[in-house]
Amino acid sequence: MERISHWIGGKVVAGESGRRGPVFNPATGEQTHEVDFASIEEVDSAVEAAADALPAWRATSLSRRSEIMFRIRELIERNRTEIARVITSQHGKVLSDATGEVQRGLENVEYACGIPNLLKGGFSEQVSTGVDVYSIRQPLGVVAGITPFNFPAMVPMWMFANAIACGNAFVLKPSEKDPGTSMLVAELLKEAGLPDGVFSVVHGDKVAVDRILEHPTVSAVSFVGSTPIARHIYETGTRNGKRVQALGGAKNHMIVLPDADVEMAADAAVSAGYGSAGERCMAVAVVVAVGDVADPVVDAIRERLPKVKVGDGTDPDSEMGPLVTRDHRDRVASYLDSAREQGATVVRDGREDEVYSRDGFFLGVSLIDRVRPDMDCYRDEIFGPVLGVVRVKTYDEALELVNANPYGNGVAIFTRDGGAARQFQFDVNVGMVGVNVPIPVPVAYYSFGGWKASLFGDSHMYGPEGVAFYTRGKVVTARWPDPSTSKVDLGFPRTR
Ligand code: NAD
Repeated sequence: MERISHWIGGKVVAGESGRRGPVFNPATGEQTHEVDFASIEEVDSAVEAAADALPAWRATSLSRRSEIMFRIRELIERNRTEIARVITSQHGKVLSDATGEVQRGLENVEYACGIPNLLKGGFSEQVSTGVDVYSIRQPLGVVAGITPFNFPAMVPMWMFANAIACGNAFVLKPSEKDPGTSMLVAELLKEAGLPDGVFSVVHGDKVAVDRILEHPTVSAVSFVGSTPIARHIYETGTRNGKRVQALGGAKNHMIVLPDADVEMAADAAVSAGYGSAGERCMAVAVVVAVGDVADPVVDAIRERLPKVKVGDGTDPDSEMGPLVTRDHRDRVASYLDSAREQGATVVRDGREDEVYSRDGFFLGVSLIDRVRPDMDCYRDEIFGPVLGVVRVKTYDEALELVNANPYGNGVAIFTRDGGAARQFQFDVNVGMVGVNVPIPVPVAYYSFGGWKASLFGDSHMYGPEGVAFYTRGKVVTARWPDPSTSKVDLGFPRTR
């Protein structure tokens, strides 16, 4: 059994805690690796390596840091297929999707290549006679990132690209379900010339996470994962004096207005509902069909479902792979039973597909119609290939449904009416809005973040807010000695 160990101080360090977890190939159901779970002492040693590397890295010129980011970009680009292969073998998503994930992550590295420009401060000459004021942004120090299983390459890049470019040292605690990608990335960062200790990886579970949250040297924590853990991270981290951004779960709605192009809406719902087996925080989970459009939309989605090719992610014909673990697959499938019991119509049950009987953790694409907001399949984040349809009579009812939902990550509206779309964008309590775009993940030069239970903290991730998160401001007021104007003045400083 291959073992995945930590990456501390620029090299692989075998875990000594004696605690480990299994890593599976979700397409075959086989355990392929064991991953070490860090002890408190092992987290401490990664933080210590980061703290040791920090002074020199902080002092490294912007042009040199930018040069290293450019090299990281080149190496990740060159190894894109290899990274995607590791993602597919541990997460299960199909290779083309895994390659797309690397590409979207890489956007953040590209953004961070412009760090000399991003860290430019302001300068005001002659605020008082002979006095200038300027603002600078400085790194926080040792910062940490805790990431989910569903984007093992992209979400770490959301964090570490800006963090290290800003001059911080970064400790990553990736998901224990698919930890392999982070090791490959760690090697590439070293090859790019990043000094040892500036980027470390500790694997593990709650023990490692809780130690990060209470470690006195860690000044900021970025988290992406489920809402209950995000809340825990935010509350514990801030209680310990850390800056925290904690992105949580989601239940994304796609509203289809009566004037929408039904075929286009159905294509979008199927793509965004079942892509990556629904294991995306921006996946469409609920189609909200307004008025008479409901029957045509449900029919159009249903017609497309038998054509979705489900299979091993390494097969170029597969469009959707397995779920990440057997437990998760079974939990997802259980919503088909509860939906039926609670009065919804299961239009398609993915357990009836051949793939469900394979050894891998497959579930066929599933569709539930006539979902009501009080049903478990509406209330919970399912995070699988199970799309629900809620039928409402009016636009106002659709808006009320979305705004009453505790999550506020992404939402989409499908319509030909620009005025309706604009009103929706104005009214909706959700952080990322798509107009005829089902998965509105912002490009790297905007920032990513939901509202309500989808984000704890004040700051969205990556882009300009990411740079602000990983730095703090300083303002310098300066005067150069001019003996001819010097005198004692006990008054409060004011401009002259
Ligand atoms: P998760 O919350 O189970 O795990 C996320 C991280 O937290 C992992 O590194 C895990 O090891 C750690 N963790 C798990 N239990 C913990 C505990 N009790 N104490 C401390 N740490 C713990 O999430 P997941 O299943 O890996 O990922 C799926 C979830 O992530 C979904 O809810 C999805 O919506 C969410 N997600 C959100 C976004 C976003 O941008 N908002 C992006 C991707 C995923």
